[in-house]
Amino acid sequence: MQARICRLHAAHDLRVEIEAVAGPGEAEVQIRIGAGGICGSDLHYFHDGGIGQIRVREPIIVGHEAAGRVAALGVGVTDLAIGDLVAINPSLPCRTCEYCARHQFNHCNQMRFMGSAYRFPHEQGMFRDVVNVPAVRVHRFANSVPVQLAACAEPLAVCLHASSHVPDLKGARVLVTGAGPIGSLMTAVAARRGSAETIVTDLHDLPLSVAKKMGASKTVNVVTQSGRLDPYRAGKGCFDVVFECTGAPAAIRDALEMIRPGGTIVLVGVAGEIPLALNMIVSKEIRMIGTHRFHPEFAEAVHMIDSGELDVSPIVSHSFDVDDAVEAFELAGDRTKAVKVHLTFEGDR
Ligand SMILES: [Zn+2]
Ligand SMILES: [Zn+2]
Repeated sequence: MQARICRLHAAHDLRVEIEAVAGPGEAEVQIRIGAGGICGSDLHYFHDGGIGQIRVREPIIVGHEAAGRVAALGVGVTDLAIGDLVAINPSLPCRTCEYCARHQFNHCNQMRFMGSAYRFPHEQGMFRDVVNVPAVRVHRFANSVPVQLAACAEPLAVCLHASSHVPDLKGARVLVTGAGPIGSLMTAVAARRGSAETIVTDLHDLPLSVAKKMGASKTVNVVTQSGRLDPYRAGKGCFDVVFECTGAPAAIRDALEMIRPGGTIVLVGVAGEIPLALNMIVSKEIRMIGTHRFHPEFAEAVHMIDSGELDVSPIVSHSFDVDDAVEAFELAGDRTKAVKVHLTFEGDR
């Protein structure tokens, strides 16, 4: 069988290539991919040839947020059937290293994360018509969910894990900084978890309109409407929880200013070294918690999308056939025009 493969050779050198695909091996399953979401990390690989210390050192098939249909079963796979709609969990911890032994699976030393250039040889990703993966990576949908929504399980899992750091959001006043796919999904999760009020900020109107559809009580464009935040800056600040989804110094400064004493800031966005008002963290006794990927939350995300408990459809702003992958990557980097951009594959036909 011939399949199209979306492979990054170097920064700005993304090619759609055709290759022969073998059948699935033992304990593997073959998935005909339907849709895959372009993530911020894919964009960093595309534009900068890596993220921070992680560099693309050999051609890599990008993509780690995809769903499709089971096309073939390898020997020993009995709990799936041809045609099943599934999402592929990009994360595969070793289960034996010191972190896995502590049940910190998302920190596994030997993590095999699909579409990641962290390890060498790189872990190949999901942007291709057909992929063979270990059956343990596959999560089945029971209902006839559109494949584009099934492909949103990975970013939703990230947000569910972020919310797990704040066990009780019931009645909380929540600030979400950044309204991209993660900020918007974070907003929906906070609303589902019973937040009393969720305010969302961004630099652009388009992502804010998506956050509104995902359950924001109020959105604020910090460029054109910054005055709308004044009431929240009063006194020592009023938010119980901030989900910081930008990694931008200005947004983190805002978060520190508007969090109430004793409040919790969950850092979802990633930045390198940035200046930080340590005095605010100390004097307001703020808890700042990082969050990294997910583990049990992938299955939870699949269930929420499958059951219709959370509608992720507003975040998907565009879909392109994989033949137009370069155009899709260019658009996905423009936050004034796009939120989540999907590639579609043979399995979507
Ligand atoms: Zn991602
Ligand atoms: Zn491990």
